[in-house]
Amino acid sequence: RTPDGIIYNPAEVRHVPDIDLMTLLFESETCRVPEDKVIHADAAEPSHNLTKGRLRQLSQRAAHVFRHQYGIGAQGENKDVVFMISTGHFMTPLIFYGAIMAGGIFSSTNPSATPGELAYQLRQTSATVVVCTPDTKDVVLAAAKKAGLSERNMLLFGGTKDLEFKEAASGARVPISNQELQWRRITDPVELDNSVICLLFSSGTTGLPKAMPISHRNSVAHCALAQEPTREYNKATKPLGYEYRMIAHLPTAHVAGVQVYLVNNCYVGGCCYWMSRFDFPKFCEYAKKYQATTMFTVPPIYLLIAKSSLVKDHFDTWQEAIAGAAPMGPDLEVEVAKKLGKGATKLRQTWGLSETCGTFTISPIDPAQSAPPGSVGALIANCYARLIDDNDKDVDPGQPGEVWAKGPVVTNGYWRNDKANKESFKDGWFCTGDIAVFKDGFFFIVDRKKELIKYKGNQVAPAELEAMLLSHPKILDAAVIGVPGDGTEVPRAYVVADQKQITGQEIMDWFKKQGLSHYKQLRGGVVFLEAIPKSPSGKILRKILRDMAKNETPLAKI
Ligand code: AMP
Repeated sequence: RTPDGIIYNPAEVRHVPDIDLMTLLFESETCRVPEDKVIHADAAEPSHNLTKGRLRQLSQRAAHVFRHQYGIGAQGENKDVVFMISTGHFMTPLIFYGAIMAGGIFSSTNPSATPGELAYQLRQTSATVVVCTPDTKDVVLAAAKKAGLSERNMLLFGGTKDLEFKEAASGARVPISNQELQWRRITDPVELDNSVICLLFSSGTTGLPKAMPISHRNSVAHCALAQEPTREYNKATKPLGYEYRMIAHLPTAHVAGVQVYLVNNCYVGGCCYWMSRFDFPKFCEYAKKYQATTMFTVPPIYLLIAKSSLVKDHFDTWQEAIAGAAPMGPDLEVEVAKKLGKGATKLRQTWGLSETCGTFTISPIDPAQSAPPGSVGALIANCYARLIDDNDKDVDPGQPGEVWAKGPVVTNGYWRNDKANKESFKDGWFCTGDIAVFKDGFFFIVDRKKELIKYKGNQVAPAELEAMLLSHPKILDAAVIGVPGDGTEVPRAYVVADQKQITGQEIMDWFKKQGLSHYKQLRGGVVFLEAIPKSPSGKILRKILRDMAKNETPLAKI
């Protein structure tokens, strides 16, 4: 920490190459793996798979289809969005790479999204083409209608060996030629900073979910700064090496899915075994069957690993186990480690956001340097942080403060959203909304200043739930906060309403029918108040609600 409060790692500066992501993954020496190496497979049917060579070839074909039949990238880059909504599918990478190679942008949402939620995201991203799988087809067609998109551009995607597209509404096969589109190689640093490859959704510090861009630079820097140290360490300490094998079980709508399965896996030449939906017994079975060696997942899944009697020797082949995307206490970290084999004797926590392209701090891989339990580790190289108080001043050493972040992995700002950018960026620093303490070189996340609720790693924006509650004629005012429950955070509603006219249970029952995803339901119950505590400017004082929540029993529960 410098005297003026800036935290960085003086011992480590790493080279971030000036190249675009596709060139890094498919043409650079760094990522050279044999063309016939299988890097993605269906966990249920592993003969359905993609080698690195085939992945590149089919992605270039997908890019050709996107460009020449749907005009993606034809009007210039960074304009057209290919939106994907699907359960886990080993061919998902083709859509991601295909969109980027065509000069377009990939975007995605949780497969449990409802038509209303998807239509909102399609409008926010001005999506041109939407790709779905059979289980998300109906939602896509309903959302396209709401968003006024042409049915012709709604594509059903499938196939077990080859790239196949059908028009989702008519079932007509989309002709796919054998031509492969060559992506444009980018080396100009300014262009690399500004060209967008992916739009993810995050609610940021306040308000509704917002589209948030990841640039070529962000993603390439993430490989060089967060993934490369692990690879170097493994090369040095395990001369015979080991293959990175993982079970893909998180949605590719989240930065973890994008960066771990679609980018890092290709970067290290590992193999992802894709599950269509998360199912714990199957997850254990696949981990054993495919001898998984590396795992990133969320705390609720580690809780299952720690508690379940199903787990015996299933994770003995793991060489590393990383937790992130939501808070995890030191006790669980220690408990989990007992269920891991000889390779991954420790669980490492990482902290980061969609806005930092994932990992921004991580416990070092070298056990001799690892962070104490409960810590989210140290800053990755080339990145900077400050801890800031309520008056935008740096806190005294050892004191808690909001983390402000800077570095090549940090997004340039929300997509076409000046208001959100003014709120979230100050003097070139991104204000994360998380409160941390910095001690002996390591960060501890101790609180959250922003509104966000995380239900099992999924983002829930209170503003969205509050707007829904306020649309009920008998609810006069409402606020939603996260409270502990189900081994995670659950949304609890505070409402102002006449209890003679409506009960908590009636509110819950009505809420369930409003077309919001299952993870946004009011699992924390409903509490009636005389008035919602607010500041003179009308801002909800969530801290007061959070203090109240510690001592109350909700009147209704799911
Ligand atoms: P997302 O953009 O969906 O990944 O959400 C990012 C947010 O998840 C952060 O701002 C934190 O509030 C929370 N988060 C992520 N990792 C951790 C962690 N290791 N400990 C505590 N909170 C975390």
